[in-house]
Amino acid sequence: MNFEKILIVGCTHGNEWTGEALIQNYANEIQESFPDLPIEFSIANPKARELNKRYIDEDLNRVFKNIDANIESHERTLAKEFLKRIKDSKTLIIDIHSSTSNLGNTLIITQEDGFNFEVAKQVSQVSDAKVIYSPDIEKKYLVSQSTYGLMIEIGPVDHNTNQEKAISDCLLLTKEILKNVRQVDKDVHGKIKLYVERKDILYPKTQGTKLNPIFDRSDFKKYHNSCQAFLNESTNEMIQIDYEGEFFPIFIGEASYLENGLAFTVCEEIEIEY
Ligand SMILES: [Zn+2]
Repeated sequence: MNFEKILIVGCTHGNEWTGEALIQNYANEIQESFPDLPIEFSIANPKARELNKRYIDEDLNRVFKNIDANIESHERTLAKEFLKRIKDSKTLIIDIHSSTSNLGNTLIITQEDGFNFEVAKQVSQVSDAKVIYSPDIEKKYLVSQSTYGLMIEIGPVDHNTNQEKAISDCLLLTKEILKNVRQVDKDVHGKIKLYVERKDILYPKTQGTKLNPIFDRSDFKKYHNSCQAFLNESTNEMIQIDYEGEFFPIFIGEASYLENGLAFTVCEEIEIEY
């Protein structure tokens, strides 16, 4: 496909440094490797990065949903500026994140589109990256502001750290995406097996309840009908989460989701035709 702009974005969350390190260390190399692609780089939230915080007023990666609401915040201003950069142009967005969970290398698709699915499939076939489908009907995510976009999400990476392996994996995935840009046609058809997000599981309200150590870090492990997700530390009782059929938990114990009480997300593995 021909794009007018390919926007590679880091620090949508200020405490996730992998994208910034990619841009600082490898922007020239990326540009030289793909001289015919209109690549631009962007640090999405420099102020949050400076303060080593996920955000200043509110999450930039959720704010696009109600962008026209009469509310002022640092991130809303950034979001409006960002929208101007992609407005009226055919843009591909590659938005780079890291997770504190034991996720491994993943690509996240939020918009149902053949190009996104096909590129993700090609990249996953030559790397160890898993593909997650997180349908964003409300278009709250930054990457959903164009029809064409992929998030790169790599874990485990602690907040406010640079991790060499995560950065080199991120470079590899970015290059693999870019390799496919011109080759994949707008009207491409095919099938892809991916992990679709189905349900968010909250921490139980019972005091002293934590993630069960035998469950924690088991992102993408296959479970059937239930998992012993939590442990009550005072009674030593395990707390079971039921989910009918085969499922795969992801983002287990993600530090950023604690403020919303979110413990993990349940995915199912499905095949999508596009
Ligand atoms: Zn993030």
